[in-house]
Amino acid sequence: MAYDPNNIFAKILRGDIPCKTVYEDDFALAFHDINPQAPIHVLVIPKAAYVSILDFTAEAPAEMIAGFFRAVGTVARQLGLEEPGFRMLANIGSDGGQEVPHLHIHLFGGRKLGRMVAKAD
Ligand code: AMP
Repeated sequence: MAYDPNNIFAKILRGDIPCKTVYEDDFALAFHDINPQAPIHVLVIPKAAYVSILDFTAEAPAEMIAGFFRAVGTVARQLGLEEPGFRMLANIGSDGGQEVPHLHIHLFGGRKLGRMVAKAD
């Protein structure tokens, strides 16, 4: 899938629409999900145009990949999620339930998170 520069997270990165930022560095932006599924639900996105983990890991420079995943860990620590734990998740493609075609890692925490994968509808 080609990257769509008009997706909602691209607009957030450009500052065209607002977000509730929790962390930002050269590689990543983290912000609260607009429709939280847990007491803590934060999204971490790379500051670069990648649809998913597939094109990101195939095409992004090593410095960007390292910087992005370091940022994910930094955000989790900053949110106090180390104890009693949390979940990180990335939806990819239609079966994965991906709605926004810009790579994003969900961080969920603040309660017991239940089943790892929901039963199919
Ligand atoms: P996914 O289904 O993995 O693509 O997740 C997309 C997520 O983006 C959903 O959890 C949405 O609630 C969230 N979302 C969509 N628009 C916004 C926005 N403007 N600000 C913050 N989160 C958003």
